[in-house]
Amino acid sequence: MTPRLRLQPEAIGVGMTSQRVRDRLIERLRGHGIADERVLNAIRTVPRHLFVDEALATRAYEDSALPIGHGQTISQPWVVAKMTETLLAGLQPRQAGEAPPKVLEIGTGSGYQAAILAALGLEVHTVERIGELLRVARKRFRALGLRVRSKHDDGRIGWPENGPFDAIIVTAAAPALVDALTDQLAAGGVLVAPVGGGGGQMLVRLRKAADGSIERTELAPVVFVPLLSGLID
Ligand code: SAH
Repeated sequence: MTPRLRLQPEAIGVGMTSQRVRDRLIERLRGHGIADERVLNAIRTVPRHLFVDEALATRAYEDSALPIGHGQTISQPWVVAKMTETLLAGLQPRQAGEAPPKVLEIGTGSGYQAAILAALGLEVHTVERIGELLRVARKRFRALGLRVRSKHDDGRIGWPENGPFDAIIVTAAAPALVDALTDQLAAGGVLVAPVGGGGGQMLVRLRKAADGSIERTELAPVVFVPLLSGLID
């Protein structure tokens, strides 16, 4: 995987978004068990303050979820780090010159998680049901020079035409794992998703073996907005 991120001058940021503030977040993530240097480096490099409203930019490098409008949130950096680390660890090793792993994200939101995955050199496909959020996220991908394939749709159907995927990451919670998504996971692939409803959510990892059998592991309690049906402009 080749890291790719072209930072425009306006993306570099000033003051409260300084490198020192970002480094403090990285140290915090390390202290909370995130060890994959590729993930820490992507979080250090991708300007999270550009994925939230300007009024919230001063809080962008705190380890907390923040509102992004339409009742939705950008996930807490630790959750992004944990999901990304789990996903990378679950990918099959690639040969030099081989195409990058294909990842499907459900719930583009601000576009931050997709940007982290793209910055890590993965081929990212992302689906969002709220058109306005997707439009803003696409502008961010463009401004950062990141290639992310995206569509406005109900992510519970996945993206069958572009599958199967080496990894699937779901960033909104459903009471149970969605079969259509598990079906679009390649053999040897990994899926990470929050599962649960009112009684609490768990971050779950699924691994699909070469023979199609599935191993399920619970990773940590989390809080995500719900996976909903229907499209909104
Ligand atoms: N990954 C996002 C987190 C966004 S919050 C980020 O990095 O900012 C979860 C997102 O999932 C919301 O934007 C919500 O609109 C979206 N969502 C909820 N149900 C969905 C569905 N069925 N299909 C696609 N997106 C969905």
